[in-house]
Amino acid sequence: MKVEIIPCLKDNYSYVIIDEKNKKTCVIDPGEPKPIINFLEKNNLKLSFILNTHHHYDHVGGNTELKKKYGAKVIGFAEDFHKIPEMDIKLKDEEIWKKYNFEVKVIHIPGHTLGHICFYFYNDNILFTGDTLFSLGCGRIFEGTYEQMFSSLEKIKKLPSKTKIYCGHEYTLQNSKFCIKYDNKNKSLISKINEINEKIKNNKPTLPSTLKEELRNNIFLRSNNEEIKTNLNIEGSSSLVTFSKLRDLKDNF
Ligand code: ZN
Ligand code: FE
Repeated sequence: MKVEIIPCLKDNYSYVIIDEKNKKTCVIDPGEPKPIINFLEKNNLKLSFILNTHHHYDHVGGNTELKKKYGAKVIGFAEDFHKIPEMDIKLKDEEIWKKYNFEVKVIHIPGHTLGHICFYFYNDNILFTGDTLFSLGCGRIFEGTYEQMFSSLEKIKKLPSKTKIYCGHEYTLQNSKFCIKYDNKNKSLISKINEINEKIKNNKPTLPSTLKEELRNNIFLRSNNEEIKTNLNIEGSSSLVTFSKLRDLKDNF
């Protein structure tokens, strides 16, 4: 299985996944149709499935046109059936969907939206996290609660650390500035920031990341760290309180 990163809109990423053996493809979160069509045509591919992590326009904007052009089936979270355009296949939390060489488990991770899911290709150690986990950040809490977002991130933290993380936006550089502000002695973060700057300078995506790197560097996954709590002046607070404080600060960063 091959993953191609397709920049869409201003700073979104869509991903085309290719089953090379069967010459079949899926797209994750097509924010717009054009860049996806261009890629498929250039590589002489058609589209079989459209997978959506959540209902926001910058993640589903390409559904209608791509479905019309290729007859692709739209896959999403059952509870968001009326919010995601053209949904054909409704999946539930923890459900496994298999077709050709694609084998994916749905994990419900509410917080950014109530029906947000991630797609876990467990045989390939690949996770598509939409707007829940970003590299060095996490999504804004629009529909859910702090508790929901916190426990969604805890679910992701339990996956194997070699899992590759593909998220919905190129926010890594901006996120890194927030992380380093409250985690300034984190050596691993400092070297990660050097890598990020190098990639941005060369016009390369900063993704994928790995869960291992995120656990070390992403401040939103480190809300149990005492030094970070001290930097926030909330020594002795719970991880949830620390996470909520970080989320509030980041909203106004
Ligand atoms: Zn979103
Ligand atoms: Fe988004």
